[in-house]
Amino acid sequence: MKTVDNYNFKDKKALVRVDFNVPLDAQYNITDDTRMRAALPTINKILNDGGAVILMSHLGRPKDVPEEKYSLRHIVKHLSELLGKPVKFATDCIGAVAKNAADDLKSGEVLLLENLRFHKQETAGTESFAQELSTLGNVYVNDAFGTAHRAHASTTIVAKFFPNDKVFGYVMANELENINKVLNASEKPVTAIMGGAKVSGKILIIDNLLSKIDNLIIGGGMAYTFAKAQGGKVGSSLVEEDKLDVALKILKDAKEKGVNIYIPVDTVVADAFANEANKQTVNINNIPDGWMGLDIGPLTEKKYAEVIDNSKTILWNGPMGVFEMSNFESGTKAVANSIVAATKKGAYSLIGGGDSVAAINKYNLADEVSYVSTGGGALLEYIESGSLPGVEAIEK
Ligand code: AMP
Repeated sequence: MKTVDNYNFKDKKALVRVDFNVPLDAQYNITDDTRMRAALPTINKILNDGGAVILMSHLGRPKDVPEEKYSLRHIVKHLSELLGKPVKFATDCIGAVAKNAADDLKSGEVLLLENLRFHKQETAGTESFAQELSTLGNVYVNDAFGTAHRAHASTTIVAKFFPNDKVFGYVMANELENINKVLNASEKPVTAIMGGAKVSGKILIIDNLLSKIDNLIIGGGMAYTFAKAQGGKVGSSLVEEDKLDVALKILKDAKEKGVNIYIPVDTVVADAFANEANKQTVNINNIPDGWMGLDIGPLTEKKYAEVIDNSKTILWNGPMGVFEMSNFESGTKAVANSIVAATKKGAYSLIGGGDSVAAINKYNLADEVSYVSTGGGALLEYIESGSLPGVEAIEK
């Protein structure tokens, strides 16, 4: 893997794609600067080598034109504080404003360009726009894992204008190394825990994982589609009627590949989708009419804890129930705790993709697992297909 560690940035201007898509409140205060902090090691490596840094990012979802609330100007002050040096700002990411600012930049200095998505050519992946961006620097660094699954101008297309001068930043390298630890895991048994709302979003991921894992644990809303597909009575639980055959195929494929697949045996059901609803624990195949499954039950928790406890490599994506409601969070919390316990015993654990990250943070356990991915969609797509446009663009 070509990373910033394999490149000497002395007297170079590095065009660095970062993910500064941070949440801002109504007064434009940054409410979570995790992504900015994550980019600091890459920026500092370039500066310490004696290079200059030109940062480019998107922020929010502007509609292809400048919008004050999505201006990256709002983060300049905080970025300067984090870096301990002034950060220059260009009010556009292309055109004379950007070019002049980049040309004037000296070694040791940092320039932030305005939001890339103020131009529709960014998400369209327009080659001429990427080419114009490329004229700002003489080496390209991609450190934005969260957008690496998009073939946008700044994440993918721009790389072709730096045939011999393109490398991964530390965030990217770290993410890829950690995911590869799961996908190429030599430490077995390997267990994937899949939850969340629906089967539909996870089919390709499960398909690809089946040849790499020993155990597949199913939870969350998708469990009821599996139960119904096998003839269970699931009341008014979340079910994807058009995915019953897919669920059966996954069960069949798992069997053929020798993967142990675990579906909940019991479930906590409610008479409404509300924390204060009446609840009871029942067999997952025998849910009374009018009741819906919102969490895995205690027998299932116990079984899943055993499987996780025996695992050496663990991937967790998606909560076991509606963990946002305190009365239906027990299963998700139990799985999180089981993963922490297995990690303490030496297992490698990766938590990734949306709501399982929210869950591990909710229980303050992020520091007690091996790795929490920042990727979301990018992580899931990497597991699905084994690569990403932004990764290929650097590697080829
Ligand atoms: P996903 O984005 O697919 O990972 O889904 C995460 C969401 O699934 C969370 O907001 C959970 O509340 C929701 N979820 C988990 N289990 C259930 C369930 N049994 N019924 C409905 N929603 C669920």
